[in-house]
Amino acid sequence: MRSNYKAEPYRIKMVEPINQISKEKRKERLAQAGYNPFALKSEDVYIDLLTDSGTGAMSDKQWGALMQGDEAYAGSRSFYRLEGVVKHITNYQCFMPVHQGRGAEQVLLPALVKHEHMHFISNMHFDTTRAHVEIAGARAIDCVIDACFDTKTHHPFKGNFDTKRLKTLIEEKGKENIAGIIMTITNNSAGGQPVSMDNLKETAAIARGYDIPIIIDGARYAENAYFVKQREKGYEHKSILAIAQEAFALADIFMMSAKKDGLVNIGGVLAIKENEALFEQCRSRVVPLEGFPTYGCMSGRDMEALAVGLEEALDEDYLEHRTDQVKYLGDKLKAAGVPIQWPTGGHAVFVDCKAMVPHIPYHQFPAQAVVNALYEASGVRGVEIGSLLLGRDPDTKENIESPVEFMRLTIPRRTYTYNHLDVVADGVIEVYQNKDRLKGLDFVYEPPVLRHFTAKFKPL
Ligand SMILES: *Cc1c(COP(=O)(O)O)cnc(C)c1O
Repeated sequence: MRSNYKAEPYRIKMVEPINQISKEKRKERLAQAGYNPFALKSEDVYIDLLTDSGTGAMSDKQWGALMQGDEAYAGSRSFYRLEGVVKHITNYQCFMPVHQGRGAEQVLLPALVKHEHMHFISNMHFDTTRAHVEIAGARAIDCVIDACFDTKTHHPFKGNFDTKRLKTLIEEKGKENIAGIIMTITNNSAGGQPVSMDNLKETAAIARGYDIPIIIDGARYAENAYFVKQREKGYEHKSILAIAQEAFALADIFMMSAKKDGLVNIGGVLAIKENEALFEQCRSRVVPLEGFPTYGCMSGRDMEALAVGLEEALDEDYLEHRTDQVKYLGDKLKAAGVPIQWPTGGHAVFVDCKAMVPHIPYHQFPAQAVVNALYEASGVRGVEIGSLLLGRDPDTKENIESPVEFMRLTIPRRTYTYNHLDVVADGVIEVYQNKDRLKGLDFVYEPPVLRHFTAKFKPL
């Protein structure tokens, strides 16, 4: 099967040893972690597919750039270098670094919430984005196409907005009550699924018609551009940069977790096309929350590494290999009968646990049970994306039933080889073969916000 895939477009200059602790130890460690893999020590994990956020490998060029960081508190040369790269990619006039994606969220979102009972509408809000929408006193509404939740059916752009529903929602809520339309590219929460340029255009036209600000939550905008090039007519011959620029031209604001397509371990971007007044508001918020506007919680050396990383992430050979790794793992699982979100997206394989363990109800967190079983079986750490992550309704406090129950196997950038993915596939297939024996979980401790990070469970 491997023969269809090109070898890694890089060679290894530095190694970090990893090892697999015994099955008995894994069982013990998982129990100590309260059956929540977030509480595991990384040294007890063999292959870590918890997230692709800040877990990738930097290039030799990025490590070289680190040495050139200008650590001036104000007016750092590294800030201007990074600003130049961000402006080149987005054509936006205003830029400020922030500590990571949620830094941009906490600086920007409250500035858009003008009064009570406002809403943000997104194809799908990422979990921290939803949390910051709610902290800002607004409500988050997801408006993705239905195909997104149908894992078996092939659709090239499962991240697309349901534009018909979007219009109805705006009419229903009243345009003055919509604080912004958030385009999440790619759609992290439902499979790293891309959004087509056609859909971005249609969504932008609707938002413009109602004079609603358009925000790109673009942690993986380069991966999205790659899928547009691969899957959308008319983009075959365009560069990734040109496709990305076309997307940014449609929006007003760009928030980015640079820990994804920035190819760095920490950092974030907030850029605004031309609204100086909004930028001023964000600048006054960024100082107490993140830091002086020319560093915003990033060191000079980190800004240098990000300036290089943003450009490397637009490289087509790199993007081909990255998305191929995801596809490879997905193909292997699918061939063994494991239900997955199909086609595979940009950064992870999403195993459909609703289909895999239908005997576990949503309030017993089926995907968390599968994640735990995988860790026990092979030392591979995945993560739950389902009802546990979704949390409780902010008004009624009831558990919300997620339309999907996924185990996300997230592939860090430039970090693991195809051999590692074979180990992952073997582990998942073993769990799949014993799926009928898996049991659900109940809370021992449940924190009030972003509960999935620190909750503790007992197996039922
Ligand atoms: C990761 C992510 C964020 C939040 O970024 P952090 O760097 O984790 O704070 C926001 N939106 C999307 C789509 C993401 O993937």
